[in-house]
Amino acid sequence: MDNASMLTWIELSRSALDHNITSLARLAGGVDMAVCVKANAYGHGLAETIDVIRDRDDCAYVTVHSLAEASACRDAGWRRRILLVGPFPLKRANDLVELDIEPLISDKSALRAVGKAAAKRKIRLRTHLKLETGTGRQGITEDEFDSFAKVYRQYDSLVRPYAAATHFANIEDTTNHEYAEYQLDRFDRMLRKLASLKLRPDIRHTASSAAVILFSKTHFDLVRPGIAVYGHWPSKETYLSYRLMGGENRLFKPVLSWKTRVMQIKKLPADAYIGYGCTYRTTAPTTLAVLPVGYADGYSRALSNQAYVLINGKRAQVRGRVCMDLIMVDITDIKGVKIGSEAVLIGPSGGEFISAEQLAGWAGTINYEILARLGGHLPRLIVK
Ligand SMILES: *Cc1c(COP(=O)(O)O)cnc(C)c1O
Repeated sequence: MDNASMLTWIELSRSALDHNITSLARLAGGVDMAVCVKANAYGHGLAETIDVIRDRDDCAYVTVHSLAEASACRDAGWRRRILLVGPFPLKRANDLVELDIEPLISDKSALRAVGKAAAKRKIRLRTHLKLETGTGRQGITEDEFDSFAKVYRQYDSLVRPYAAATHFANIEDTTNHEYAEYQLDRFDRMLRKLASLKLRPDIRHTASSAAVILFSKTHFDLVRPGIAVYGHWPSKETYLSYRLMGGENRLFKPVLSWKTRVMQIKKLPADAYIGYGCTYRTTAPTTLAVLPVGYADGYSRALSNQAYVLINGKRAQVRGRVCMDLIMVDITDIKGVKIGSEAVLIGPSGGEFISAEQLAGWAGTINYEILARLGGHLPRLIVK
């Protein structure tokens, strides 16, 4: 399919995705990668992303949040390893064993369920033990170590604590990294305590994108980058910290563009209202373009009267409220717009660019949320 037959679609740059993974692999200094593909590959499309990364031998793992995502990775032809970082229904532990999915364990009943499933089939399964070092989310605390050690002993030959892992709470939201250092110290202390209980994981992993970029001592044996794979900085603070360290500018290139087409053009007089709630009123004769995209596609209603789209390389502002499936933009001063003209919601047009970060700013959120909420139903095309 080419984009001529589409009204609203997403384009993915294969070369940008390759470039970003190469940058991350270089930063990680040859440590294996677990490419994070949760949330439909941060909105980029799970199958499409796997299609690009499956041939790279530096991507040992993909990281997913749910069993459904893990299973979709297998369906998309991913034969290598899968790290499941979210919870799974205990009744489905058999599926983990059958699909060879390595769960991140932070709950004893989950470990028991996996142990039973592995014992039933006499299949070995690697587990990754999540340690609570101060994020206050998943992860086991030191007072639970004894009881986890018991469960591991019970399923000794089949289920091992293959890895120890943790996750940083405050690495992308600040240029002060004391809290990350504190979590690393705790991680180290917890590993020594585990060793005293004869739990000695083969590998350790802690690093999301910001940690991969800023802290080589968090890399250990495996890194788990997400947002940077897709060409986005985890935050301004991460970018600033990196540039202050003297890092290069073109480390990551955005992979995704989001496009739609002008479906109607209309002229309104001065003093006319636009859209639900009459939140915008023209002050002069105005030409509007109607675009077939709305909050049902992930174009947040918070963008009402805030955002711009690009048409013919020029900025056209969203007028009135974002509807479920439509938006209206002001093209009064843009020449040559026709029915079918391309409108860029995220990405370049002429010399102009609208980034996921700009949309996030207008909508009062972060780039992660803008990307993760892109409608799963939108067609994705891999280009160059
Ligand atoms: C989402 C996630 C990551 C990736 O985070 P980014 O900031 O997108 O790089 C890494 N590890 C875990 C446990 C995650 O949930």
